[in-house]
Amino acid sequence: MPHPLLDALGVADHPRVVEPGGARGAGFVVSTNPATGEPIAGVRLDDGASCERAIGEADAAFGRWREVPAPVRGQVVRAIADEYRRLREPLGRLVSLEVGKIASEGVGEVQETIDIADFAVGLSRQLHGCTMPSERPGHRMYEQWLPLGAIGVITAFNFPNAVWGWNAMLAAVCGDTVVWKPSLLAPLTAIATNAIADRVAASMGHEGVFRLVIGTDEEVGERLIADRRLPLVSATGSCRMGRRVGRVVAERLGRCLLELGGNNAVIVEPDADLDLAMKAVLFGAVGTAGQRCTTTRRLIVHESIADAFVESLVAAYRGVRIGDPLDPATLVGPLVNERAVEGFEAAVRAAREQGGEVLVGGRRASVPGSRGHFVEPTIVRAPASGVLPIAMEETFAPILYVFTYRDLEGAIGMQNAVPQGLSSAIFTSRISSADRFLSPSGTGSDCGLAYVNLGTSGAEIGGAFGGEKDTGGGRESGSDAWKAYARRQTCTVNFGGAFRLAQGIQFGEEQ
Ligand code: NAD
Repeated sequence: MPHPLLDALGVADHPRVVEPGGARGAGFVVSTNPATGEPIAGVRLDDGASCERAIGEADAAFGRWREVPAPVRGQVVRAIADEYRRLREPLGRLVSLEVGKIASEGVGEVQETIDIADFAVGLSRQLHGCTMPSERPGHRMYEQWLPLGAIGVITAFNFPNAVWGWNAMLAAVCGDTVVWKPSLLAPLTAIATNAIADRVAASMGHEGVFRLVIGTDEEVGERLIADRRLPLVSATGSCRMGRRVGRVVAERLGRCLLELGGNNAVIVEPDADLDLAMKAVLFGAVGTAGQRCTTTRRLIVHESIADAFVESLVAAYRGVRIGDPLDPATLVGPLVNERAVEGFEAAVRAAREQGGEVLVGGRRASVPGSRGHFVEPTIVRAPASGVLPIAMEETFAPILYVFTYRDLEGAIGMQNAVPQGLSSAIFTSRISSADRFLSPSGTGSDCGLAYVNLGTSGAEIGGAFGGEKDTGGGRESGSDAWKAYARRQTCTVNFGGAFRLAQGIQFGEEQ
């Protein structure tokens, strides 16, 4: 019997989906529920030949899709958004079932895809280029943004729906087609998400705009990133993956959009609204069981308030309910798999060896009647020296490292001292501290995202999303991030008829 959610989403009899018992051998992967360890369904994997076929189909569809006027492409995206609206609950629950985030976050993730699709519909009438005055009489200059091609999209397990949405909805209105390679930890969400978009587009006469390949990194991932038919590869995941993808795509002089790991900090000034800061740090650090790229991993708190603030935070941690992500009372679900639990345990061990003190958590959590991958949200206080090398790394689990500081310059220095540069926040009631953090000279936060009196996670789609340094430098989602999915052309027209060179250059007879 297929899972009822697959039925509700119309993919129970999808050719890729098989009974878990039938998913034997190298050609299959079994998607399991991280909260129970039970299989949900088996998924048939792509091999080299079917991957080639999918890229070929997306490439061929690009030839047709680019001819569709952008506002008409927008109407297709609008219809896709409407279908996601209709299926928001079951799709959101499938996200929770497959990757373990709590139900409201699963549904919220699908809402994010709906939001970016709505944004893309508006954008489809606003793919503006600018005009600029020509230095030559009788000439005109302007820019236009053209469709780019079939786009490769690689996604991480932790946002198995929305990260594709950020990319695919913008790419589609720009006139691009999409080949999506999701994480093998969330293949069912990918099948359902892509099938909905593909079904709607095909029903409106646009076959092949959304293609999905599911397979191993060796056979499918490597093929995708090396393929010259994909002028842009947008890849979301670990810094390790980004280094590999960046190298391979650069070798063929393709374009990369990299959205990689974060190591995000919150600075708490002594004048901050501490209740507000507490709520934001709690959600930022334990929400999604610490499995967001924007998770708060470091707390940098002023020494004069550190003891009291940390004491209240520890108390709040003790009240957090861990368990079944589909139970509305749960705040923290499981980690995605056993390997993630081992990574958590290794980081806690390293923190202790490096002089850190575990104030709360630090162990696997047992949830009665479940074989899921649960851990206790953990706070580690750094030694007085402030040296804690493990805190320089991103461990994808709910571990918060606490540091103290004496002056704001020192706090900003600590916040910037990690290799990653995704998200950052300060809590303060002083405008001078806030503006120092956001200094226009660039000497404040060095991250792509900087918040004042908000936590590090939970971005809105309206702004460009992404980070600096080892986070990869890419920008997705709102603002003018759409330009990454388009080809810029500078056009100059001589309507005056006379032959004139720029910079006043004379060539031959006087002009
Ligand atoms: P991961 O790097 O293990 O995998 C990410 C994706 O890359 C998967 O689809 C994987 O199959 C693919 N991949 C890996 N090697 C590849 C190769 N050689 N060729 C082609 N594809 C390859 O990451 P994960 O564990 O799924 O996700 C967690 C990581 O993602 C964290 O580091 C997190 O911070 C990051 N992340 C970043 C953002 C962001 O926007 N900056 C968003 C979500 C997650």
